[in-house]
Amino acid sequence: MTKTNSPTKISMVGLATVIISVVITILISWVLYQHTVNLLTQNLRQRLISVARTAAVQFSAEDLQELQTEEDWKKPNWAKVVNQLKKIRLNNDNVLFAYIIRKDKRDPAKMVFVSDSHSINPYAKIDISGDGKIDDADLLQWPGQEYEDPPQEAFEAYSGPITSRELIQDQWGIEIVGYAPIKNDSGETVAVMAVDMKADDFFSITRQTFLPFLSFIFILILIIFVLATILIRIWNRRVELMAELDRQKDELLGIVSHQLAAPITAIKWYLELLNDKDAKNLDEEQKETLATLQGVTNTLSDLVSMILDVSRIQLGRMNVESQPLNVNNFLKEILDVVSPKAKEGEILFKINIPNQIPEMLLDKRLTRMTIENLLTNAIKYTSKGGSVTFKVSLDTKLHFIISDTGCGIPKIDQTNIFKKLYRASNVRNGVAGNGFGLYVAKGAVESQGGQIWFESIEGKGTTFFIDLPFNLPKKE
Ligand code: ADP
Repeated sequence: MTKTNSPTKISMVGLATVIISVVITILISWVLYQHTVNLLTQNLRQRLISVARTAAVQFSAEDLQELQTEEDWKKPNWAKVVNQLKKIRLNNDNVLFAYIIRKDKRDPAKMVFVSDSHSINPYAKIDISGDGKIDDADLLQWPGQEYEDPPQEAFEAYSGPITSRELIQDQWGIEIVGYAPIKNDSGETVAVMAVDMKADDFFSITRQTFLPFLSFIFILILIIFVLATILIRIWNRRVELMAELDRQKDELLGIVSHQLAAPITAIKWYLELLNDKDAKNLDEEQKETLATLQGVTNTLSDLVSMILDVSRIQLGRMNVESQPLNVNNFLKEILDVVSPKAKEGEILFKINIPNQIPEMLLDKRLTRMTIENLLTNAIKYTSKGGSVTFKVSLDTKLHFIISDTGCGIPKIDQTNIFKKLYRASNVRNGVAGNGFGLYVAKGAVESQGGQIWFESIEGKGTTFFIDLPFNLPKKE
């Protein structure tokens, strides 16, 4: 029977999938967005460093040396430096401030200005002097004026160009600062060139790209999700169809083998009758033919009942019918069938069975089929001169161990050996078989609540183990 999922279950799964897709979309977009922002910021930083560097080399250390105190702003050098700084600010897009600072000689933990580009700020109107007018006095930064709270990067710039690690947000917007050392002829840093760059445009542009970017990823994931759903549905339908075909095949197999069982039993019965009653009237050749016929019919009968069992296992209809069993007699019956096969194959057959196994409740047909199958296999897959050992023991369970010194099962085949129709690679072309036996044996053991497993080394031999639970018949 094919299982159908309830609509609630399906819609819950659908909802969960949509939520997961949305979360994944947001995560992926966020990661990609951050990555893009990082790349662009890196780019911005590099540009800023190159602006600061190019600016730094334009100044002579000697000129800057002259500008030490407030009075020095009147020197011609001051105008020269300010003009150079102005040019730097005007020639580079988005540069808000360009200024030169250096460590305070009296206290190197502080910084002072050398000069700046008039601190001209095209965006803000700050009346520093408090006279109600924006004029040069508001914007002048004189030599030696303390640079309050200088950032750490300004000091680090003495060793090489650097940009501010954090973005700075103030009344002029979001800014990033680039620093480059200004060196004298002996290579010593005498001051630091600083360039403040406005980064608002950059951020607003990257932010604007985020929404289309998010939508794109979302649509992409939605398409993948829809396609995957369609594919899964097609696949599930195929699997259901295959399962249904398989079930129908097992049903058919069951019906056919069931229908075959009755005539085969009749043939077996008549052949036995013929053998019992009329054998004395038959000549030697006819007796031989009769024996062959009986052998072939038995094989056919075994095969049909095995196929019937295969379909029972597949359809989950393996019935267990326990009955009180004299285990010693029962095992003897099996050995009577198997021992001649061992003898015929010139195989040493060692039997180790306790004498007085108590009567117990077991499914005779299933247990017989299992043990007979494993013993027949052990003999079949052991060559002349080898040995097969059959050991039975008893505690809370009935234990069977069937070991042989035969061809063994290659490691590569071991995981599949209990599968229907599976035959190991080392026997496929050499020894006749159909691959039903172990599948049915496992089904028979497990339907009785038991366990079956094996150990095998290719070329050395195989040991099968069976643990079978049992009940004792109730005493009258
Ligand atoms: P088959 O009719 O081929 O014997 P079975 O289902 O009984 O089918 O066994 C499946 C496969 O397991 C066999 O084809 C063989 O490869 C392997 N096998 C089973 N028993 C043994 C054994 N005692 N020694 C080696 N190989 C074995």
